[in-house]
Amino acid sequence: MQCIECKKGDTKVIDSRDDEKTIRRRRECLKCGYRFTTYEKIEVPLIRIEKRDGRLENYDREKIKVGILRSLEKRPVDDNEVCSLLDDIEHEIISLDKKTVASIEVGEIVSKKLQKIDDVAYLRFISVYKSFSSAKSFESEAKKILGRKNG
Ligand SMILES: [Zn+2]
Repeated sequence: MQCIECKKGDTKVIDSRDDEKTIRRRRECLKCGYRFTTYEKIEVPLIRIEKRDGRLENYDREKIKVGILRSLEKRPVDDNEVCSLLDDIEHEIISLDKKTVASIEVGEIVSKKLQKIDDVAYLRFISVYKSFSSAKSFESEAKKILGRKNG
């Protein structure tokens, strides 16, 4: 977003909080250093999530957030990163441009994004979402990660 003061510089977000209806972003101009706050309305089209048992639920950012925070417990990822991660995920879900999205699809999106920021959180997340039934399946996922890292 462009700076509202000098109208030349690009701004970076230095703080971001959301309540249910708005995202408050504290921005700083990269050129002149001017700081200002924007309030953006969260406008999410009505998307329904189809659970594995076929039940439909309205899309709920909070629910995704809870799952992510649980996976990120005690990991070195701060609130701002979580917030932009959620924005990212939400954006991707919206760009699917579907009225109904399968919960599995949401899980794939979340795990793909989590993998980019934290391996441990990623493993924790997929162990819940893929409901690993044994230590073996957990181990094979962990090996995949190691395999990618080493080669
Ligand atoms: Zn400026």
